[in-house]
Amino acid sequence: MNILEIKQLHMSFGDNQVLNGLDMAVPEHSVFGFVGKNGAGKTTTMKIVLGLLRADSGSVKVNGEKVVYGAAKTNRHIGFLPDVPEFYGYMRPMEYLRLCGEITGLSPDRIKSRSEELLTLVGLKEANRKISGFSRGMKQRLGIAQALLNEPKLLICDEPTSALDPIGRKEILDILSTIKGKTTVVFSTHILSDVERICDRVAVLHNGRLALSGTLSEIQEQYRHNSFSIKFANSDEAAQFAGSEELKRPTIKLTQDADVLTVVVEDRRVGGQFLIDLLSKKQITPDKFEAVEPTLESLFTEVVR
Ligand code: ADP
Repeated sequence: MNILEIKQLHMSFGDNQVLNGLDMAVPEHSVFGFVGKNGAGKTTTMKIVLGLLRADSGSVKVNGEKVVYGAAKTNRHIGFLPDVPEFYGYMRPMEYLRLCGEITGLSPDRIKSRSEELLTLVGLKEANRKISGFSRGMKQRLGIAQALLNEPKLLICDEPTSALDPIGRKEILDILSTIKGKTTVVFSTHILSDVERICDRVAVLHNGRLALSGTLSEIQEQYRHNSFSIKFANSDEAAQFAGSEELKRPTIKLTQDADVLTVVVEDRRVGGQFLIDLLSKKQITPDKFEAVEPTLESLFTEVVR
């Protein structure tokens, strides 16, 4: 089942058409990377999902229920982590979560057990001091604990790692991948390596709609170029192989970089077999022979050009 379903969403600010028929579906129990350049419309989409902005047209469903602008009952299914979460600096984490729990209407016992569980999850169990002294990463982790207090089915995070150093980013990514069994996570980002690290699915927003979407392997399959990378013992051997008569065909393209040869063929299976046969005929055992998988970075650059 899809926990979030967006259909034909249109949204403009004056003349600036930000969303132009956006369709997007997020299946349950996934970590979903919502990717796009700055200004692509990721935050706008999230605000519409949270019922904080009224779209010009289109529909959004959370857990099968329609989102209504200004009266989003659907928010009971959602935990939200803004890019810069705000706290009362004079409070300690436990006090802050108690306040949030009381506002949400949880029982005192439930607040206590849930807060302890969540502070352990986000690594702040021992950080019993004022939030004002917290690092940016600690505040972000506390923000996740707060967003998860009410056991939401969907956790939406707006650029959760953008302002953090590599260690802080890793901590957040580890937490997000831990919770996916219980909560579906949608996070927006422009850091593609974060998506590659933890996301099952990815969607790239460009020109107001999705330019790419699917699992990483589906997308790689779709955009796979028929390229092979062959690493030889040295650059002379690579050059010799590259000069083979058998490779002088219009359907084969070669690029040499020192001892590595990249070969683009027309058909991945036939071409791959042909290269293996040729290496074998010439009695060359390469150090490495591999099909080149496109990276998310290279795909992103290709579709968002
Ligand atoms: P992203 O989150 O992908 O960086 P945003 O959704 O924040 O993108 O912004 C998308 C576009 O919409 C930008 O051009 C931004 O300037 C514009 N925009 C966002 N919010 C408003 C607003 N309240 N009023 C006018 N323009 C806005």
